[in-house]
Amino acid sequence: MIHRNAESYRVEVKRFYLPFEVTVNCPKCGKPCTEDLRRNYLSYPTIGGIADLSVECPECVHFWNVKCRFDVTLTLVE
Ligand SMILES: [Zn+2]
Repeated sequence: MIHRNAESYRVEVKRFYLPFEVTVNCPKCGKPCTEDLRRNYLSYPTIGGIADLSVECPECVHFWNVKCRFDVTLTLVE
């Protein structure tokens, strides 16, 4: 049995890299922009909370933040 003791909690990791790519359209020029979380990390993310991910548009060099929910799953396998 697994019991989660807190809905959200901060990860004490300054540079938390993840094997995900996030693609969003630039709000300024409309081009699709991809951030690779294997290179662009989350800083002290809150598991079970909302994380700000900074995105840079390579087309018009616009920077902005997108919000994403960050969560983990723990599953017994034996
Ligand atoms: Zn742009």
